[in-house]
Amino acid sequence: MTTVTLRCERCGREAGPEMRNCPEREAGTCSYELSEHAAIRSQGMLGCLAFAGFFTLISTMIVGVSAGWRWGAGVVLFVVVLVSLFFMAWQRTFLNPATGAMWQQVNLFGVEVSRTVVGNLRQLDLGLTPMRPLTVPASIAVLTTESATALSDALDATRASGKWDSLSEMPKPPSRDGALVFTAALAGLLAQGVVSVQRGRLLKRRFQLSKAGLADEEDVAYLLTPGQNTGAVSGALEQHIVERLSRWDENPEHSTWPQGPPLYELVHGLFDEDMSSPDRWLAAFAVDEATSLGVGRMVKGSGANDARLPPRGVLERVARAVERWAGHFELNPAYVQQMRDQREVVLDLLDQLEDEDPHFTQKLREETERAIDARESSD
Ligand SMILES: [Zn+2]
Repeated sequence: MTTVTLRCERCGREAGPEMRNCPEREAGTCSYELSEHAAIRSQGMLGCLAFAGFFTLISTMIVGVSAGWRWGAGVVLFVVVLVSLFFMAWQRTFLNPATGAMWQQVNLFGVEVSRTVVGNLRQLDLGLTPMRPLTVPASIAVLTTESATALSDALDATRASGKWDSLSEMPKPPSRDGALVFTAALAGLLAQGVVSVQRGRLLKRRFQLSKAGLADEEDVAYLLTPGQNTGAVSGALEQHIVERLSRWDENPEHSTWPQGPPLYELVHGLFDEDMSSPDRWLAAFAVDEATSLGVGRMVKGSGANDARLPPRGVLERVARAVERWAGHFELNPAYVQQMRDQREVVLDLLDQLEDEDPHFTQKLREETERAIDARESSD
């Protein structure tokens, strides 16, 4: 198994605690910058919390303080232990700003609990070129007139085939498909050169229960950075993405990824909090903007539904009620032709991305879905 090994170009030291002793560190000419701080959001914090609680419980029992004082003393001790543990969880990062290479370790009581190593970063040359000029933002271009009866139709098909799990695999209409709308927006930003992608080898050392200890995992990191083009960006979602990317240093994950956010962290950072339907929240950027531009709108309820055969069974009744309540997207007839043309341009951009870099495209899909799912609140 190969590992990602980094060496200082100046002193030849291998990346790691030894690098701290680089003779050029004092002069500031070592190619690796060192930053050290308490690991506020490190993986060790949950363990700290549990240990602080346990320690507090045991020590108040041993000391045997009177019941009246036990609560107060317990709380104070808990806080003291937690704060000291907090400073025991220590994150140390060696970063080469010129190449993006990074060696990072989180220690608890001086013992390694996680490690992240990123090799030299190289910018992806995706060469995306729109087949025709985009006249609407890419995020809007994927919207299309939707069937008011999609859910009922899917139920019909499911009933006909007898396969009940296929309903969950039913494709989402674009107006609800945050992952699709985000992917389109990002493809547009990549084609404009507003965002670029840096690729590097990645080694992650994490605690794995199955291995009963730390285990190494190799992967490829895709980190996003602002591109060469700093011109104006059109599209509400596109602007939101660019704004979050340009203010990445304010994100709590910045200390873990100082070079720029990985795909997952970029998508995760678009949301301010968990919500019941993050997918729809993302897609709403495009739906709302399309509505304000007069390109289309959400239509609640539908006369078409009532013209269908009477509902058979409870499920179909529910499906029709859901459709009437949630609504569906319809294009303004005046824009149908233009939007069909624009949709073709964006779908072609996504095809180009797939052809140019299938691995990145696959990661983009997976990480976007994963970040959206992670924002789904459980209630
Ligand atoms: Zn050095």
